[in-house]
Amino acid sequence: MAQTIAALSTAPGGAIGIVRISGEQAEEYLSALFTPTGGRPLVPRMLTYGTLSVHGQVIDRPMAVYFPAPATYTGEPMAEIHCHGSSAVLEETLRALFALGARQAQQGEFTKRAFLNGKMDLFEAEAVNDLVCAQSAQAAALATAQLGGHISTEFSEMREKLVAMCAQFLAVIDYPDEEIEDLPLTEMRQTLEQMRTRLTTLCTSYERGRALREGLPCAIVGRPNAGKSTLLNALLGYDRAIVTDIAGTTRDTVEETLRLGGLILRLQDTAGLRETEDPVEQIGVSRAKDAVTLAKETGVVLAVFDGSQPLGEDDRLVIEQVRDAKRAVAVVNKSDLLTQMDLEELQGCFAQVVQLSAKQRDGLDRLIDTLMELTGIRDLPQDGGLITNLRQAEALSHTAESLEQACRQLGAGFSPDVIVYEIEQAIDCLGRVTGAHVQEDIIDYIFANFCVGK
Ligand code: GDP
Repeated sequence: MAQTIAALSTAPGGAIGIVRISGEQAEEYLSALFTPTGGRPLVPRMLTYGTLSVHGQVIDRPMAVYFPAPATYTGEPMAEIHCHGSSAVLEETLRALFALGARQAQQGEFTKRAFLNGKMDLFEAEAVNDLVCAQSAQAAALATAQLGGHISTEFSEMREKLVAMCAQFLAVIDYPDEEIEDLPLTEMRQTLEQMRTRLTTLCTSYERGRALREGLPCAIVGRPNAGKSTLLNALLGYDRAIVTDIAGTTRDTVEETLRLGGLILRLQDTAGLRETEDPVEQIGVSRAKDAVTLAKETGVVLAVFDGSQPLGEDDRLVIEQVRDAKRAVAVVNKSDLLTQMDLEELQGCFAQVVQLSAKQRDGLDRLIDTLMELTGIRDLPQDGGLITNLRQAEALSHTAESLEQACRQLGAGFSPDVIVYEIEQAIDCLGRVTGAHVQEDIIDYIFANFCVGK
């Protein structure tokens, strides 16, 4: 039997601190410390007011609740004590629980027990962590939808179909009187193909999922005085970078995290990307190039141009440098002044061109809309069908590959044992996502990234 565990589940410093207990002794340990007011017994699932005593001394008047198994988060008996947030009270409470025989819960151990006790699969368990760490309402909504179990049910239905298919092929292998031609081969191929298509769609959603979870690197580039710092400040809504009209003031990169609706941008304002003899500025330019490379490859680049001037050599250098970016927006700044820039030339180089005035904060909405569109954050699937972690994406991709292979073999009339092998591979890979086939060390690794108390 697993030892009873306890941990503080809330962040230190709040007015209330919640100590959580899970394990066979949860009720016993709670009752040893907590006495309901009026001497009444604890009623399961009812938050009750009372006193918390350690060594005969009342140290708090908290609320407490007991949850009998198995209808609990972990599947074990659980209890919670909602203390006042004093770190002294919380530490003393935990110490008393440890003295009674509980031990400190490790990171993610409550959720790990929930997984091991079959309360949720690994996909849902990872969604719990995504929910705890969500940096935007959209990321939280996605994790909550995943916790709702729609995708997990889809995976388990796929698994059942694959297992049933294996059984049919094995019957042909084990009983030579059965003929493979008697199997519904066309129907089987269709089923495998449908699953493959669905899993491939999920795999390709990973990039959006990651952007939603971690944010996208974003570089603001442009020649000196184009208005990069002003744009950064306008987006941030406060003055963060030094803004002057002397070329080269922004000598180093300035990093900020920006939340625009569901989109999180890890913004880099960079030193002007230009050739310079000044050694200090050269360092800035070199760092700017690194930031731009990252944003070009995995994020989004905002190329800022001073629209009140014709395109110059410096601007053309910028265009050249961001030409191969995955996602780039040309921001034609200073729209409050007379436009001198040839917009058509820019439209020939960028799929997205947005005219605005960073100084007047006019037109920023258009830029934000364009970014939401470009990153696909606006329309998120309601069922939680967006993959947010690489391990899941890779396992699903391997599942899809095996299904594709099985389909091909089925079409080419391969022998049943070869097809069964491939379908078993698919079942195994899918099991890495749901946790049905995951090595213990990988499970430990996954939960070690959780918070203590969750
Ligand atoms: P950076 O070198 O690209 O970072 O450019 P800055 O943001 O430091 O801006 C250079 C100059 O352009 C400053 O004097 C800003 O006030 C001015 N500027 C920036 N944006 C605008 C704008 O939208 N309209 C006008 N008229 N001036 C702007």
